[in-house]
Amino acid sequence: MHSELIKLEETFKPSILAKIDDPLFAQYQIELWMKRDDLLHRVISGNKWRKLKYCLDNALSTGADTIISMGGAYSNHLHALAYAAKVMGLKTLGFIRGERPEMLTPTLSDIQNWGMELKFVSRSNYRLLRQYKGCDDLPGLIPGQYWLPEGGAQVLALKGVRELVNEIDVAYDIICAPCGTGATLAGIIDAVPEQKSVLGFAALKNAGFLQSDVESLLPQPCSNWQINLDYHFGGFATTTTELMAFIADFEFKTGIPLEPVYTGKMMYALYDLIEKRSFKPGQRIIAIHTGGLQGKRGFTV
Ligand SMILES: *Cc1c(COP(=O)(O)O)cnc(C)c1O
Repeated sequence: MHSELIKLEETFKPSILAKIDDPLFAQYQIELWMKRDDLLHRVISGNKWRKLKYCLDNALSTGADTIISMGGAYSNHLHALAYAAKVMGLKTLGFIRGERPEMLTPTLSDIQNWGMELKFVSRSNYRLLRQYKGCDDLPGLIPGQYWLPEGGAQVLALKGVRELVNEIDVAYDIICAPCGTGATLAGIIDAVPEQKSVLGFAALKNAGFLQSDVESLLPQPCSNWQINLDYHFGGFATTTTELMAFIADFEFKTGIPLEPVYTGKMMYALYDLIEKRSFKPGQRIIAIHTGGLQGKRGFTV
């Protein structure tokens, strides 16, 4: 790994694994643990670092000095990328979905302050950018520019996610993560032994595409995983008072902060599925806290 990355990683904290104490779980004989990737770094969001790490290392190997990527106005990916790249001395350019808002969101304001050049693109053009999956696929790239697809979802991202799984030092039956692009889930599937199961929770509505997207990222076919599409709460950036109340209650009971786009939905789903006896008594579940708390700023129901 390049020294810029090693130096940056020295500023990271361990991602602890903690059992969640709730009498409800004892009642159903389930253990729920959380791997706290949200604690990894003060700024860089958990799973975004896992996904970025080896992509940035690869970018340095190719001699790139500029990373180009894409995201929405609350993008955890662009936020993590802009900060990490600034510390490493790389330039960044972000294609932002939609028109420039009169007032930048806290996320966009941060990334602009960290030196990312913002280019606002129409929703239809934004969708077109999604077809460019490989690091040199974006038309018009010049030498020194490196393309990262939406959410940092590419095969190299799996390598960093595998490290997360390998850090888990307790026995478990099921491992869970929220899904946007599904790259984090693919990394987990790739790392987990066959006899354990992997369960993803889609944050988007109509996320049936996730099945084949995850399959296409996996180096070999696996059958020990599934993606639950039932807990999107109306879609990607939407939420309900019920979800917000669950998050507030969970934070109060456990002291663990959640956000409504990804981790809140997953935890709501897990509580709901446990109460519906979807898991066998005696099972130990590990939920990955993927971070993303910066995106919560300015989020109202
Ligand atoms: C981006 C993100 C995800 C989704 O990750 P994918 O690899 O795109 O599926 C999950 N949780 C949080 C907090 C995120 O920021």
